[in-house]
This record gives sequence, C-alpha cells and structure tokens, in this order.
Amino acid sequence: MLAHPAGHSISPTMHNAAFEKLGINAHYEALDVPPDSLEAVVAGLRQKDVYGANVTIPHKLAVLPLMDALSEAAKQIGAVNTIVNEEGKLHGHNTDATGFLRALRDDGQFSPKSKRVVMLGAGGAARAVAYALLKAGVADLGVYNRTESKAETLVNDFSPLGAISHLPEETLNQAIQAADLLVNTTSVGMEKAGLDPKVSPLKEGNLPARGFVSDLVYRPETTQLMRDAMAAGLKVQNGLPMLVYQGAESFECWTGQSAPAKVMLNAAKTALGRARA
Ligand code: NAP
Repeated sequence: MLAHPAGHSISPTMHNAAFEKLGINAHYEALDVPPDSLEAVVAGLRQKDVYGANVTIPHKLAVLPLMDALSEAAKQIGAVNTIVNEEGKLHGHNTDATGFLRALRDDGQFSPKSKRVVMLGAGGAARAVAYALLKAGVADLGVYNRTESKAETLVNDFSPLGAISHLPEETLNQAIQAADLLVNTTSVGMEKAGLDPKVSPLKEGNLPARGFVSDLVYRPETTQLMRDAMAAGLKVQNGLPMLVYQGAESFECWTGQSAPAKVMLNAAKTALGRARA
C-alpha cells in the first residue's frame, strides 16, 4: 500500500491473513511514500515478483498519469486505489465503488436499484459512491455538501451516468425524509485527532422516515449518526464492510482467486481492536 503517512492501516493485517488462508506466498506491507518518491516507487511495481499495490491518501489522483491503462471506474471516478502489474504493464483500478456496492448488497441486504438516495459529502469517497449508485440504477441521487461548489462539480461530472442532483441546504430535510438510503461519505463522526466522534453530520431529528443508513466511517464502530438512526428504528451499516470488500476486490484483481472475505473481515476487526488499545 502506498500512503503518506502510512500510519495505522489495517490493510496489511487483512491481506496477509487472506494470503495465508489461500497458501499464497506473498506479503502485503504499508509503505510511507512521500510525494516526491511516488514516481520511482510506482515504477518499481513493474518488477516480475510484484502483484501490484493499493493506493491511498494522498496519492489516489497523482498515480493516474503513471498508469499504462485505466479501468472505466478509475477513469470516471478520477482516482486509482488499486494497481495491478500485468507483465510489466500497470493497470489502474478503483475498487472503492464495487466494494461499497458489495457491502450494501451482501452485508446490508439492501439493493439500491430504483431507490431514492441522499449522499452527504463530495470528497474522494463520495465520487466512488456516486459512481457505484448511478451504475446500480438508483431512481435519484441527491448530493449535499458543506462546500456547495464541490457538490456542484461532482453532480456535473456524474450527470451523464444517471439522475443526480445537488441538494441545497433548504431542500435537504425534505429529501432526507423521503430517502430509502442515506449515505454519509463525510469524515464527520470519525475518531481522529482533532475531530469530535460524538457529532452527527445531520441536525438533530433529521433522518429518513424509513430505510437504510450507511456510514462510511468505521472508527468508531458505531457513529453518532448510526446511534440516532438505530434509535429511530432504521437499519444501519458502518464503513467496515466496504473497507473489507474493496480489499477483497483488490485481492481478486491481483491473484485471480476469490478472496476469503470472512477471513479478511475477522482480521480487520482484530486489527481495529488493536488500534484502539
Ligand atoms: P475527503 O476527500 O477529504 O472528503 C471529506 C468530505 O467530508 C468532504 O465532503 C468535506 O466537506 C466533508 N467534511 C469534512 N469535515 C466536515 C465538517 N466538519 N462538516 C461537514 N462536512 C465535512 O475524504 P474522503 O477520502 O472522501 O473520506 C471521507 C470519509 O470516508 C472518511 O471518514 C474516510 O475514512 C471514509 N472512507 C471510508 C472508506 C471505507 O472503505 N469504509 C473508504 C474511503 C473513505 P467539504 O468539501 O465542505 O470540505
């Protein structure tokens, strides 16, 4: 994994558990790659004994021009989170989108087809989620973001894929009330230095009347938004299944083998517990 800083990622634990389970002689590690070393490190991925890499903050955009080919998802989302070394040629993929959908369908038992969706946020994760939901055929996708101009840019970029619109603040409550699915892609509620994990991205009492709430945040395990939604009788999901399934999709791209998702989920849970300790 190429990151900066490499920090407390749970991906090495998750992928190494999967390699061990399938008896694959490979090792996954988190590399701290400062921006001025990125080109050289990516060039090194062309070596024969390298499957590829995951890419995360702050390199997901910067690696795009370093690829020999891009998947349709990586092109549309404008970010690469998985690099596959195919006989010296580097292919850029984005498995955040498919990971999000698999989490929603397989773990959440929720099918987004023909559903009304509100998405909070317009950053990198929001672009993958918007791509996934529009490709899955949602009825409409309303996007709200603190910085309106970013929501407008996202809506413009993805409008060729389906019914997506910007929600100004004054229409947000009404859209949320009517939504079948609410997705939080903002970092509000995250447990991180300088952030308060006890806040929700929504004003008090503003929740869908029915349906499903998906929060991409996975640290803490239960966010304030999820607590409020559960108290209102709604189904909820945190970001851990997405994290695991995007990893499983990357694993499948590299090895051509079906990933042991349950083993990866258990390893991720153990690593998260350790990170909290
Ligand atoms: P990003 O590109 O930096 O975007 C951050 C988003 O959060 C922006 O829309 C930003 O709004 C909004 N935001 C930040 N602070 C806010 C505040 N105080 N009030 C309202 N909005 C605020 O980050 P990202 O990569 O998209 O990640 C976003 C979250 O998703 C993080 O918590 C990350 O851990 C999580 N994530 C999870 C997975 C997974 O697999 N589960 C994958 C990717 C990301 P502005 O535009 O107004 O700044």
